[in-house]
Amino acid sequence: MVEVIVKEMPERPKPGEKIQLPNGQTVRVRHVGIPWILPPKKVCNDPECPWHGHLKVRGQVFTVTVEKVHGKSAVVIHQWLHYDPKYKRYERRRRKMHVRVPPCIDVKPGDTVYIAETRPLAKTIKHVVIGKVEDTVEVKPEVIRLGQ
Ligand SMILES: [Zn+2]
Repeated sequence: MVEVIVKEMPERPKPGEKIQLPNGQTVRVRHVGIPWILPPKKVCNDPECPWHGHLKVRGQVFTVTVEKVHGKSAVVIHQWLHYDPKYKRYERRRRKMHVRVPPCIDVKPGDTVYIAETRPLAKTIKHVVIGKVEDTVEVKPEVIRLGQ
């Protein structure tokens, strides 16, 4: 088991950048594939980190509220509206989920975070936190001009 090292950067690293940790290890910041979520300010050497390890994300991205954090996992609440065609109304649905928290992202109860699906990491954990709400940037869609 490797010791987890977290290094705080003065500036937010860009995807593709290589950062050297205090123990001499070099970590490359990956891109998780969601253009509007920025990499965290901290860099870790956890292999099960979507930004600095080799954990791939897939499927939908949910915006959830953190309820409890214990160590490298957390309990989050996902709320959504479900349409009932019989009554032509929406009903509120909620579900608690167990998620993995990488050591480079600090979460506390009450935070709003983005989670994405990954491979099953434990019996009930198959989602990972990929960023906080403030770690986003507005992405303008590129306009492709035809015939020019
Ligand atoms: Zn990390």
